[in-house]
Amino acid sequence: MDAEKLMKIDRDHIWHPFTQMADWVREEQIIIERAEGNYLIDVQGRRFFDGVSSLWVNLFGHRRREIDEKIREQLSRVAHSTFLGLTHVPAIELTEKLMGFLPQGLSRVFYSDNGSTAMEIALKMAFQYWKQKGNGGEEKTTFLTLTGAYHGDTIGSVSAGGIDLFHSIFRPLLFETVKVPGPYCFRCPYDLTLDKCGLHCAEVLREKLMEEKERVAAVVVEPLVQGAAGMIVHPEGFLRRVREAADEAGVLLIVDEVATGFGRTGRMFAVEHEGVVPDIMALAKGITGGYLPLAATVTTEEVYSAFLGRYEEFKTFFHGHSYTANPLGCAAAIATLEIFEREDVLGHVQEVSSRLSERLQEVKDHPNVGDVRQKGLMVGIEIVRDRETKEPFPPELKVGQRVIRKTRERGLIIRPLGDVIVLMPPLSTTLEEVDTLCDVTFWAMEEVLRETVR
Ligand SMILES: *Cc1c(COP(=O)(O)O)cnc(C)c1O
Repeated sequence: MDAEKLMKIDRDHIWHPFTQMADWVREEQIIIERAEGNYLIDVQGRRFFDGVSSLWVNLFGHRRREIDEKIREQLSRVAHSTFLGLTHVPAIELTEKLMGFLPQGLSRVFYSDNGSTAMEIALKMAFQYWKQKGNGGEEKTTFLTLTGAYHGDTIGSVSAGGIDLFHSIFRPLLFETVKVPGPYCFRCPYDLTLDKCGLHCAEVLREKLMEEKERVAAVVVEPLVQGAAGMIVHPEGFLRRVREAADEAGVLLIVDEVATGFGRTGRMFAVEHEGVVPDIMALAKGITGGYLPLAATVTTEEVYSAFLGRYEEFKTFFHGHSYTANPLGCAAAIATLEIFEREDVLGHVQEVSSRLSERLQEVKDHPNVGDVRQKGLMVGIEIVRDRETKEPFPPELKVGQRVIRKTRERGLIIRPLGDVIVLMPPLSTTLEEVDTLCDVTFWAMEEVLRETVR
């Protein structure tokens, strides 16, 4: 089928996620056909650097030999078999490998198939844990969550979310949570500055939690970086204070490592930066190296043991998906963890992220750059109309959208969050590729801003 025919079918029949389809059908689109390493290649043979790791999932580039081979090998045995009432070799092997990487104390793995389900499971698990624990736990029927949080698109994970643009329309369908402002230092909800605030946001969270602890099952956070909110990097010490508050209030801590996990922040898991061990942790995206849908919700023996009992007590966790722990996904995940075992991946991430940090200095003082945020290989460049007032551009100018479309002219695929330009290159990015990534992004920003400001 030629490109034109392919595109016609797409325009006539496909509905893309997070996409204004009225724009989509009018604009020129890229049809990806294959990939090589860190590059995506379209039907016309044009090569594009994968600057957001195929939406935050890819770790070692595409068609990484070891992962390809592991999947092929598994395919020659079995592509799928249920995990309900049966187990299988690749899930067991993957679990053993995961144990070598998980923070101490997390030793039970519940598999599913995407980040939203991993979080949905985390919420249901915490809720049911308290019901079965007794001692007043029955009253714990809600969660403490942050504004700006993103935990996925299913109704439960949306309930725990706090991005009005995505979530407010669904409010009538959602369960209520106790919300506190997330630590967005660039637009501090308390109008304080980091040098003098003493992490006031963490104190507010603690106070709210102590007030509401009787009805809160768990605190839910994205550790260190609120991704979808615009790569909002939390101040150092915040996560540790959240852990302490949860302990003081006697509630569980759920961390959503779906975006931050598997090396993206420079550590295997973001919680390691603060020496925090959560009670429940959600993993997805990078777990298969960005190859296949697989997710895991991991927890402690303490949480797990509350679900044990005689059959007729029905303490069972009644949750599971058709493709839970898909064997091909597990095989990809095994190969991914083997790469972490064999190579100094995190050392490389350190090196590449320091280069990225140096290069980002170049736009820090740009009159239309409000804030540049980075944690490892997660970057957000927040574009504003006025640096002094932090006033954004009106949405109809589509500044972020125009920047990312411009980068395509020079072989770079990225995707913004509103007017935050997101860079999240694969962990396998070279120093040279960091330079190209920055050159092209800064050039496109300059072009679009020049047109816009004038
Ligand atoms: C992407 C993401 C999710 C949802 O994962 P899906 O696989 O897209 O359902 C949940 N939490 C965070 C922090 C994410 O970045």
